[in-house]
Amino acid sequence: MSSSLTQCRLLSLCLLPGCLFAQAVSEQIAHQLSTRYTPYVDGASLRDVDSLAGQEAEAWWATPEVIRAARGEDALPLSGLHLALDPGHIGGIWAEWEGRHFRVSEADFWVREGELVLEVAQRVRTRLVALGAEVSLLRESNEPVNPKRPADYWTLAASQIEEPATRTLSAQLDYALAVRKRAVKMAIVTEELVERARCINEVIRPDALLSLHINAAPWPKEAQHLVHSDHAHVLIFGCLSAQELASPRQQAQLAKKLTNGSGPIEVELGTALGHALAEATDLPASDYEGLNAIRIDPEVPELWARNLLLLRLVDCPTVLLEPYIANSKNSYARIQKALAARAVYAPLPEDDILIEYADAVVDGVLRVYGSE
Ligand SMILES: [Zn+2]
Repeated sequence: MSSSLTQCRLLSLCLLPGCLFAQAVSEQIAHQLSTRYTPYVDGASLRDVDSLAGQEAEAWWATPEVIRAARGEDALPLSGLHLALDPGHIGGIWAEWEGRHFRVSEADFWVREGELVLEVAQRVRTRLVALGAEVSLLRESNEPVNPKRPADYWTLAASQIEEPATRTLSAQLDYALAVRKRAVKMAIVTEELVERARCINEVIRPDALLSLHINAAPWPKEAQHLVHSDHAHVLIFGCLSAQELASPRQQAQLAKKLTNGSGPIEVELGTALGHALAEATDLPASDYEGLNAIRIDPEVPELWARNLLLLRLVDCPTVLLEPYIANSKNSYARIQKALAARAVYAPLPEDDILIEYADAVVDGVLRVYGSE
């Protein structure tokens, strides 16, 4: 019997009165809900424990413990691990549409998150493969994973935007531009993430997924000035709002993630990657001020739970990394230095920001899946 099935059976036991073991499981779920998955929703969400009992979530991945135990003495330190890497966003001609394309002066190199993290992912793969792991990248170029293009979403996008009341040319043009914007967003953001999650769940089926990003701060209102604050954090699934929990689809996804065994591995992996990033970058932990994220362990200030689409849709353990503020004085200068060296095939700087990022990821993975 798979571990997830065992958990499902355990949850069913919760319905039997007087079962102390079941009570403990139920209390564990209540604790998970109140500290991580629905911390700002009142106790009403606990009524859903009944529906969780009916879940039969499949778990194809092996836990770090099982992977380490199955490894022979002479094996490479990461043999037996199959890790998937998601270079976040797309880059290339899509970067501007993604809103991930900027520079502060014309003499600078364009900063495109999708391109920077693709290089990080490729460097991480080289290192992890040399350590014995199997590594799958979700994309190898600055092209979408989603085979559908914006034009494929035109009809749907048009149906969601109200047609103009007047037939003036400018009203028609505004309408067409709004439909185009919506169709592009569907193709390269929302449905792109849905397709990436589908690839992980149905095709790649790795032991864990790491989604690599570089964070950015909102631009100051006055002008496109770099910000001072530079920081790092990692994200795992959680922190649904009452409104999100009211959606039957999101509730089902929460139930699946809560019962399939991915949760504790996400904490272990997120903790290790948070520590590794903090040590490698020397950056302080990021802070969220609103109720859309929660720090789940005061000992690990870098680790936050948040209800992001990819984190919710991917069944296996998933951690999303958000080191550096690309438009901070510090990291922007480092990114420019990195891009300048690459542009002329010069030796890379000793403190190269992309190599530092890749090293930290490898370190975090080794802390969880590596041989003692
Ligand atoms: Zn990003």
